Amino acid sequence: MTQNVVLGMDVGGTNCRIGLITEDLQVLEFEIFPTEKVFSKDLNASINISSFIKAYLLRNLKDMNLLAVSIGFPSTISRDKKTVIQTPNIKNISDNFAAVDLLEKELNCTVYANKDTNNLLLYDMNELDINDYQDVCGIYFGTGVGNAVMINGKILTGHNGVASELGHLPVYGNSNKCTCGNIGCLETLISGLALVQLRNANFPQTELNEIFLKKSKTPEVCKFIKGMAQTVALQANIFDPECIILGGGLLMDGYFPFSDFEREIHASTRKPYPEKNMLLKYSHPTQINGVIGAGIYAYKRLKDVNYR
Ligand SMILES: [Zn+2]
Repeated sequence: MTQNVVLGMDVGGTNCRIGLITEDLQVLEFEIFPTEKVFSKDLNASINISSFIKAYLLRNLKDMNLLAVSIGFPSTISRDKKTVIQTPNIKNISDNFAAVDLLEKELNCTVYANKDTNNLLLYDMNELDINDYQDVCGIYFGTGVGNAVMINGKILTGHNGVASELGHLPVYGNSNKCTCGNIGCLETLISGLALVQLRNANFPQTELNEIFLKKSKTPEVCKFIKGMAQTVALQANIFDPECIILGGGLLMDGYFPFSDFEREIHASTRKPYPEKNMLLKYSHPTQINGVIGAGIYAYKRLKDVNYR
């Protein structure tokens, strides 16, 4: 019998990851490429992505049956999930990129687009075996602060499709300029980018990957951890979720001070609830998470035409 698969692609600021996902969520023919190689400067985004996918399929699809192509973008996506509105970290994806319509024409195949963190949340819920939870928040402390929110079993999209931009909450008194163009966004204070600046300003002699190992008790790093924790408490206080999933590159550092972080989360969360029942779970980041998440999203849409 012919094997059904969907193509899952995870477009990142640094790398693009791609694979074929079976119906039981196994990933086949996983590949990873530097994003700057996928997005050549002379071509538009739909030509870049479609030629990349066509070449991949030629190498790997063989006799399998492709049901759909599903792509996670580090971007804001329109409510109808057709247009990639803004992608601050990839220069070659211009604003209001009509990804689904253009790529469906190029590839002659059903195409789905989703915000990468929404795909990550779907992956993590499956991986952590909490698919039956209805109210879940995912916070991903990476280069920026990624976020996805599920309410009553549905991922929150918002009126324009751009809900859950936690990293771009304005912070009172903060005058740092953000990559999104605004002044004062949260992720200018607590993110991978902000940690680089904290290191450059305060500990230029310390390697970035040794900041948590050597400097975690300094006032600067304690304040940084407290800011991350307050961000988690903020989501807990707004949504009172069954579970908050925490992930992203900053937490992968072997010396990240988890006990200080969790203590500060509890300190800043409203008492007695949601603090008393707060459930924190950690994502296990690997290269394939976003690719499988894109696959899960595609299978949900293939099963239910109204799913977005
Ligand atoms: Zn911003």
